Amino acid sequence: MEPFVHNFSAGPCILPQEVFKQASQAVLNFNNLGLSILEISHRSEDFVQVIENARALALDLLELSSEDYAVLFLQGGASMQFLMTAQNFMTKGGKAGFLETGTWAEKAIKEAKLFGEVYVLESSAKESYTYIPKSYDIPEDLDYIHYTSNNTIYGTQMNHFPGREGVLKICDMSSDIYSRTMDYSQFDLIYAGAQKNIGPAGATMVVIKKDCIGNTERQIPSMLNYALLIEKESMFNTPPVFPIYVSYLNLLWLKNNGGIKQVEKQNIEKATRLYKEIDRNPLFIGHANVEDRSFMNITFRLVDEQRIKPFDELCIANHINGVKGHRSVGGYRASLYNALKLESVDVLISTMQELEKQNNANHIS
Ligand code: PMP
Repeated sequence: MEPFVHNFSAGPCILPQEVFKQASQAVLNFNNLGLSILEISHRSEDFVQVIENARALALDLLELSSEDYAVLFLQGGASMQFLMTAQNFMTKGGKAGFLETGTWAEKAIKEAKLFGEVYVLESSAKESYTYIPKSYDIPEDLDYIHYTSNNTIYGTQMNHFPGREGVLKICDMSSDIYSRTMDYSQFDLIYAGAQKNIGPAGATMVVIKKDCIGNTERQIPSMLNYALLIEKESMFNTPPVFPIYVSYLNLLWLKNNGGIKQVEKQNIEKATRLYKEIDRNPLFIGHANVEDRSFMNITFRLVDEQRIKPFDELCIANHINGVKGHRSVGGYRASLYNALKLESVDVLISTMQELEKQNNANHIS
């Protein structure tokens, strides 16, 4: 039998085994139709039911009502949302505010500048994005403010999302949506590439408060126009059928396993255990400031670079996959998405301890 691989990949990432099994079954024979999900029309009754269920479940898990919010499943990744949010919400001659907390925020800022003025509320760029800025004013003349709730690359996470009356609040939640309880209704728009806690790569989820769209005078191309995409229920063109189906299965798995409340408890336990080891083990050091540490992406490195090779070898021997840090930060990153089991975190911790033992033995001899 193949060894069980502990997958800490940052995204695309681990999904529940049962989701993989159900998805494989649907590739062979979907809903007992004698047809694969890959060969049926996106307008067939069976698929329309899938996307309707996926939309309903997406909102239900976030405790948002379908009267107030619309859900879209689009293509183009979270990166497409960097420009769509700006194009749809920046008024002519308007301004948008951004909290610059990492590479993804930088990229969102770059795209927004194509549509109007960008005001950076605060930035932690000079400190290698090791923290979340906390003190800044929100000018009243902004069309919207844009936050990145979890900085996948640097391993920092926001806990408070300051707002201002009359200014829309937009959040890139690509790497922590569905991982923790919070008041999701404080946002006017949430977007996320699916390839972490939603499902496989290829779909992008957007949750929009219905009453805030269509207020700019800008001409927006059809494929980028939220109002039109909502009217067409994500079917202006052929949607990413299979990623949407697998996302539906994954959201259903979450619902059947106690929803966000339950998974949050496990996520806190996983992250707490790993941070404890990073802080205890003299060979390792964390990247992010302690108070802003992410519970999804844990960034750390070896104090002495000479230990990289032995540690990497131990990781391979213990079937640990995907812990290499992002190229802009280096070191290691363990992503603890919803489907990752506590046992996998324990294997990583014992691997870190194995390195420590090796190190101590070498010093004694
Ligand atoms: N925002 C965040 C927080 C991300 O982690 C990522 C991808 N890891 C992106 C945006 C970009 O997503 P995509 O590749 O779907 O465009």
